[in-house]
Amino acid sequence: MKVLLLGSGAREHALARSLVADPDVEELTALPGNPGIAAVARCLSGDPSVPADVVHLAQELAVDLVVVGPEAPLVAGVADALAAAGIACFGPTAAAARLEGSKAFAKEVMAAVGVPTAAAHVCTTLEEAAAALDATGAPYVVKEDGLAAGKGVVVTSDRDAALEHASACVGREGGRVVVEDYLDGPEVSLFCIADGRTVVPLAPAQDFKRVGDGDAGPNTGGMGAYTPLLWAPEGLVDEVVRTVAQPTIDEMARRGTPFTGVLYVGLALCADGPRVVEFNARFGDPETQSVLARLETPLAGVLLAAAQGRLAELPPLRWSPQASVTVVLAADGYPAAPRTGDPVTGLEEAASVGGVHVLHAGTRLREDGTLVSSGGRVLSVVALGEDLAQARARAYAAVHRIHLDGSHFRGDIARAAEQGDVTVPGATTPD
Ligand code: AMP
Repeated sequence: MKVLLLGSGAREHALARSLVADPDVEELTALPGNPGIAAVARCLSGDPSVPADVVHLAQELAVDLVVVGPEAPLVAGVADALAAAGIACFGPTAAAARLEGSKAFAKEVMAAVGVPTAAAHVCTTLEEAAAALDATGAPYVVKEDGLAAGKGVVVTSDRDAALEHASACVGREGGRVVVEDYLDGPEVSLFCIADGRTVVPLAPAQDFKRVGDGDAGPNTGGMGAYTPLLWAPEGLVDEVVRTVAQPTIDEMARRGTPFTGVLYVGLALCADGPRVVEFNARFGDPETQSVLARLETPLAGVLLAAAQGRLAELPPLRWSPQASVTVVLAADGYPAAPRTGDPVTGLEEAASVGGVHVLHAGTRLREDGTLVSSGGRVLSVVALGEDLAQARARAYAAVHRIHLDGSHFRGDIARAAEQGDVTVPGATTPD
């Protein structure tokens, strides 16, 4: 199988690593990839969000499958263009990707099929937003209705800050803002592979969105993740497939816009059961780094089966019983104003820690061969271990071996889970 992978982050590096480990993959090309991906695939420069260019490249390389990592190419219609050209694509069409691209649309689909989520008000003026804030009360949840790379959401008890964000959102051309009820409970990310009809869930993971330890500071693209979730209620995955993923996939098919790819279900486990916080239309970063580290079933076969509508024929996925912890190393100033261009060293030393691999995101090779930072989230350090304690210890031993001036990372990824401190509101704890 020849595969073309679109994207350049640590999520794509994780996908690349899993794809080349599939014995059926004979050739992997990445557009544009990054210096880490270049170690396992051929990287070509270009913009993965230009549909005609992606189709042209896929034809030139005669690939059997295109795997889309980030959301931008999906919203730009890359999957539509590939479908029109008869090329198998893992990733939804632009119409189906609206489940991520518009929070208002996602809410409407959820309401249509009774998916449990936060009650929401879609507002187009500041007056409506102010009234919605009074209706929901604190803590306030204010979301920009559009793609914002995980950074368009403000959760705050400060009404002025909530109103300020709402004002910025409705102030934009055609701006809409979603104000919704606060969901109280630990968060879970469940990636559901879909082929338009059938849903195959991956292992659930938890990610850490805030920049600082103890969930302090602003939201980011994600600072770390781990799996498995030993604290999660039994039957959680089946329940979420039954009450959320399958009804949503069925509804998208019913509307004539079937969804193929990853339906990323972000959930809060509330006292009255799991509720959807958000949908995304692609793999999440950094959860993918931890989840794929545990997947034993060869990945390319699964993604091709999804792209070809054959998921129902697949045997159950196989998972390593090990725990996986991902720690993101971010640049100075991230998320507000990341500094770039600083040398990054110590990667080999980090990767020599047992069970560890290092994935690139915001890195670039200078002409003199020096690896330098080129983005906010620079690296993902992924560690496998017999349990969370071992995986955490390995991940942090490795991250301490990397040097990047001014960089920072969270020190508490998976700590509460390791200590048995994650509780689901309303859940009965055994004596
Ligand atoms: P989103 O972009 O919708 O995923 O939101 C980003 C983050 O904001 C989520 O991962 C949550 O941590 C938080 N968040 C979003 N919606 C809610 C909500 N209704 N209640 C509580 N926290 C939320």
